[in-house]
Amino acid sequence: MDFHSVDNNSTRRIAALKQRVDEIKKHDFYFYNQAVEEMLPDSKVRVNGRVMGMYASYSYLGLVGHPRINEAAKRAVDKFGTGTNGVRTLAGTLTIHNELEETISNFKHTESAITYTSGYVTNLTTISSLMGRGDYVFSDKINHASIVDGCLMSGAEFRRFRHNDMEHLEGLLKNAPADVSKLVIADSVFSMDGDIIDLPKIVELSKKYNAWLMIDEAHSVGVLGKRGTGIEEHFGMGDVIDIKMGTLSKTIPSVGGYVAGKKELIDYLRHGSRAYIFSAALPPAQAAAANEAFKVILDEPERLDRLNANTQQFIGGLKSMGFDTLLTETAIVPVLCGTDEKAFELTKRCQEQDVFVLPVVSPAVQEGLSRLRATVTAAHNPADIEHAMDVIYQAGKAMGMVK
Ligand SMILES: *Cc1c(COP(=O)(O)O)cnc(C)c1O
Repeated sequence: MDFHSVDNNSTRRIAALKQRVDEIKKHDFYFYNQAVEEMLPDSKVRVNGRVMGMYASYSYLGLVGHPRINEAAKRAVDKFGTGTNGVRTLAGTLTIHNELEETISNFKHTESAITYTSGYVTNLTTISSLMGRGDYVFSDKINHASIVDGCLMSGAEFRRFRHNDMEHLEGLLKNAPADVSKLVIADSVFSMDGDIIDLPKIVELSKKYNAWLMIDEAHSVGVLGKRGTGIEEHFGMGDVIDIKMGTLSKTIPSVGGYVAGKKELIDYLRHGSRAYIFSAALPPAQAAAANEAFKVILDEPERLDRLNANTQQFIGGLKSMGFDTLLTETAIVPVLCGTDEKAFELTKRCQEQDVFVLPVVSPAVQEGLSRLRATVTAAHNPADIEHAMDVIYQAGKAMGMVK
């Protein structure tokens, strides 16, 4: 198709987005899709030939490049090669997949677990396999896009409650018919704000109104809880989440997603979820890397201690400088800017000083709440964090954001 000679909704959408991107590039505000040339120690990277402190990474425990994990991946390549013979249901299942799923169910204290090739797809397929027309899903307003897409794909009635507002959730649950299937779903740690869902209350409400509870632990595995096993451990609660979803692409330095839960639920997903049946299995190296990473989390608890100390230093420091970091309690630290322009400007000033942070603008967040979204990991050292905060402070001061 010649995009230039046709005028319809699709070509207009393409043109409108191109215009926005071109405008951002024109102002030298385009920071997306920059290639990392080399991963260096202490959470540093080389980008455009310059060594920068990485403050946009999800590798919360600094496990990318861990020798034990790399070794496990290499062994898997030697044993199985680089791909599989197809989808899990047919010839694609390897022993390493079963080992990984057993490791996950042990880590999450559930009867069983299933893996998929991305976290995004895990949410799509899980929600749309469990829910359908006439059912009701209740989703936090700032849940991850993959949750929203899964809810829409399911065809169920889609109800959104105000962010972490349990009274609003209860009102919506009360108004739903008593005899339909209900699913309450939320991020454990919200991916743009860094705050934590009120698990005790959401568990109570789900029970009271006979709804399943699904929690997305993309940012809590390896981060929350005394041993890093996630949000239930953080709140000192046992096995209270029906559908425990997580990714293998953040703290776990691989790719993929999982659901852990009761055997009946997992068996259903294994035979009824389309992403499992119609999409190829995880490659052996990635399955083996993920399997080893869960073990490293438990074997090296000092990483979590370092993450917690670095998080306290970073949030405390930025707050005392006068920045608004919203309600974050975790390694995801928003620095509120307001307009898109301000978020771009602050990012630019930081990157010029070799602090790699990224802006998050609308529609990823609500208009007016554009921000720098900075993260720290266990791999940063405190002196580097201090320096990065100073860079952010000087930039913010020059822009009149702080005094
Ligand atoms: C990153 C993320 C996902 C998607 O995971 P991928 O493995 O990157 O596909 C899902 N949910 C949340 C909350 C996330 O932050």
